[in-house]
Amino acid sequence: MAPKDCPEFASNHRRRLTSSVERPKDRALDFLECHWRGAPVEEITKNHLGEQMTPGFSASPQKQAYDVIIIGGAIMGSSTAWFLTDNPDFDGSVLVVERDPTYEFASTTHTNSCMRQQFSTELNVRISQFAADFVKNIRERMAGDERVPHLAIQSYGYLYLADTEAFAAQLRANQKVQRAAGASTELLTAEEIKAAYPFYDVDDIILGSINRVDEGYWDGATVFDWWRRQARERGVEYVAGEVVAITRNASGTRVKSVTLASGEVISCGQVVNASGPRAARTAGMVGIDLPVEPRKRYTWIFKTEKPLDQELPLTIDPSGVHVRENGGGTYLCGGHADIDPGVDHDDFAMDFGLWENKIWPAIATRIPQFEAVKLQSEWVGHYSMNTFDHNAITGPHEVIENFIFLNGFSGHGLQQSPAMGRGTAEWITYGAYRSLDLTPFHFDRIKASNPIPEHAVI
Ligand SMILES: Cc1cc2nc3c(=O)[nH]c(=O)nc-3n(C[C@H](O)[C@H](O)[C@H](O)COP(=O)(O)OP(=O)(O)OC[C@H]3O[C@@H](n4cnc5c(N)ncnc54)[C@H](O)[C@@H]3O)c2cc1C
Repeated sequence: MAPKDCPEFASNHRRRLTSSVERPKDRALDFLECHWRGAPVEEITKNHLGEQMTPGFSASPQKQAYDVIIIGGAIMGSSTAWFLTDNPDFDGSVLVVERDPTYEFASTTHTNSCMRQQFSTELNVRISQFAADFVKNIRERMAGDERVPHLAIQSYGYLYLADTEAFAAQLRANQKVQRAAGASTELLTAEEIKAAYPFYDVDDIILGSINRVDEGYWDGATVFDWWRRQARERGVEYVAGEVVAITRNASGTRVKSVTLASGEVISCGQVVNASGPRAARTAGMVGIDLPVEPRKRYTWIFKTEKPLDQELPLTIDPSGVHVRENGGGTYLCGGHADIDPGVDHDDFAMDFGLWENKIWPAIATRIPQFEAVKLQSEWVGHYSMNTFDHNAITGPHEVIENFIFLNGFSGHGLQQSPAMGRGTAEWITYGAYRSLDLTPFHFDRIKASNPIPEHAVI
């Protein structure tokens, strides 16, 4: 079924499509302005080229050696930095190096900011459960700091829809894993879906799967912001610069130093690769082949002529398109092109035909009220896709033991940032995990050809 051409809504959205080349920048700046409003006034510094810097970043490292250098200062790097400062057994120095202090191109600023417990891998369920706990108790977790706001999860749930027996079987198998780990996943027949959510067309649907506890939207930007602020206040240094080379010792078993684009060489005890879609490039600096590549993921925000009269779960249509509640009568929709190659790190060009030809027809078929819509904004972000098994890659390299991975989150990294930062900080401090055991996600599984496939990737 094609969406109907509604003069006020549908045709309007065509006029509103603008070049997306600039959009990620707009979005990143909005994000920073919005979340830094009310922040203590800090010195604005200039970088080594004399350019104005973002608050909170210095132009040059204060020291020549650090116990820990984190390459990439977005949500994973900042979570790790914060958890290090929060561990009484860690008393080392930490430098975070960030090539893009506006976060213009980071995955973190292009995210859809949701969390779920509907994974096929038990460890992923437990990782998200810790995220839910952290978010709901953020002020307490952050030393009772009264500046930290209380946060909640908007738990409308993710609703997976199966239109084939094979996918229905996968949903049933996933539910067993999830419930065994304490998640509240329910399986729904088409009739049950229709009764609970009358706006769906479910004629082709065999089974649905939803969890309405601690699953939905959360404010990842605020968590990221507070990790950075507290980490800096506790002594972590954020420097604007790009790591362009990494030097090892003579036997090749340890990283000795990193070299910045400015030419500065900084020694380190341990180094964390938190460089998102550029993770393979960073690993390549020490000769490691990492199966992570940038993949384009598109997001659209739209209004409907007739908003739904109840919250829309994050609905994963069998077409692969997902759409969810976005508040204020708006909805957020995400998807990608059928041909989905790895792309250049700087390629954020919008595919203007995608909305008309694939995305809108899919959601208007599933929810007929979405036949008349008005597009409000759209953007392109990059997933760090782990092409080996779609799961996180963590822990040390088996030979270069002080090179630590924090990569390949394949579209579910925002919700993994609390557990990943905590686990990585434990590994750095103790050489072992003290809370959740992340060793199944260690890099060595790749060399051993031992994938842990995650089937629930959106
Ligand atoms: C459209 C979209 C929707 C998403 N939706 C969700 C969701 O709903 N839920 C969820 O859990 N996850 C979601 N994700 C995934 C999530 O946003 C990412 O997994 C997460 O933000 C990854 O954080 P990161 O810190 O690893 O990477 P990034 O945010 O990409 O940060 C990496 C940083 O490293 C810096 N860097 C890279 N190389 C160097 C270098 N050599 N020197 C210095 N700095 C360097 C970069 O500039 C960048 O700032 C989504 C992602 C996208 C794109």
